[in-house]
Parts: sequence; structure tokens; C-alpha cells
Amino acid sequence: MIESCGIAEARRIWNDSDMVAESLCVACLFEGEVALRHRLDLADMFGARTLVLITGGFEDLAATGYSGGIEHARSLLIDRLGAAAELAADHRVRLAFEPLHPMVCGFRSVVSSLGEALDILDQLDDGHDIGLAIDAYALWWEHDLQAKLMRAGDRILNYHVSDWLSDTRDLRLDRGMPGDGQIALRDWRRMIEAAGYLGPVEVEIFSRDRWWKTPAKSMTAVILERMNACF
Ligand code: ZN
Repeated sequence: MIESCGIAEARRIWNDSDMVAESLCVACLFEGEVALRHRLDLADMFGARTLVLITGGFEDLAATGYSGGIEHARSLLIDRLGAAAELAADHRVRLAFEPLHPMVCGFRSVVSSLGEALDILDQLDDGHDIGLAIDAYALWWEHDLQAKLMRAGDRILNYHVSDWLSDTRDLRLDRGMPGDGQIALRDWRRMIEAAGYLGPVEVEIFSRDRWWKTPAKSMTAVILERMNACF
């Protein structure tokens, strides 16, 4: 959205909005250093608290000429995350690494669980400051979530909610409104607060064919009603 309206115009709109930027979404590790630095600069420009970082999909890596298998792609991540942390060190924004649902492994993220994300972050050198963006939509299926969220602890920087529709029609752009699907968001709230996260809850509803066609004002009213009911 920033790029499509132009950075100068986006800044003018933003500065007049009186809103706070919890995060800028999204930077992809596989896009390389130039793209990441651009996102970091943008995040600072808009005063974002975090920059959400995903790996990018396996196909993004293949497009750069990469010919290894997926396990080898995953083995690159520690070095790349370390380099990203070093790039971010001279920016105000903090990096929040977001594991995504296995169904988007091919085109969004080769890290598909919180357990895997934690194992990777644990191998980073001390002083490499990368936290986590936790998305209930991406992780609702995972086993032992409470234990893993406790392990994540103060590394949790962002918390995203929406709902999983049982008859979802798109791998990415058919998220449900809280309360319309299968995610136990009250249980999630209890778990994430027990893990120590008391920050904002970000409602993230990618819904190309339904909610994005609803006027923003009425959609916002439904979000408020549902968050009051589900939380
Ligand atoms: Zn998310």
C-alpha cells in the first residue's frame, strides 16, 4: 500500500492519521539484503515498532538460481537471520520472525511451525535480537502450543488473530472473522498471556472475496463486536 501510493504521500497520510504503527508487514529473507534494508528503512520512517519477517517461499529461492532441496534451504536460515539481525541493529525497529502455516511453504515460508522457529532462533548468536510474530491462523493446528508459547516468552513481539474457515477456499486470502471458524481464540488469549505477552492484538483478516469487499466502517464494527465476544 505504501509503494502503490508513493512513499511521500503515504507519509503525509500517516502523519495526519494520529495512529500508531505496531508493525510493518512484511520483509522476506529470501529477497536479499537490498530489499530487507529498504523494508527496515521504511519501518523506521513510519515509526513501526516491529518489522515482520518471513523467509519467503521455496519458489522465491529457486528463482535466484538456488538448486538445493528444502532441508538445505532451511539450513541457510540461521546465517541469513544472523545477517538480518546485524542489518537491523542500526535501525530503531525490531525484527519479528513469523512462522507460517505449512500450506504456504511453497510460496511464503519454509518455516512452518513455532517449534521450528524457536529451534532456529535458539541457534542465533547472543546479541542477535530477533523476536517472534505469533499468528493464531498460522499455528492453531500445532501440538503442545502452551509449552512452545511459554518457551517463546518475552520473544513474542506481535500477536495476530483471525479465524480458520473449515471450507477455506484460498491458501492465503480466505481468512475468517474471529468467531466464524475453528480457532479457540479464548484459549489462545489465555495461553499467550500466560506466556507473558500483554501487548496489542492485531486483527489480520486477508479476505479477498468477502471482508475486503465490505466497507471499512462496517467491517471495523464487526471486528469490534467479534473481539468483544471472542476475548
Ligand atoms: Zn500474521
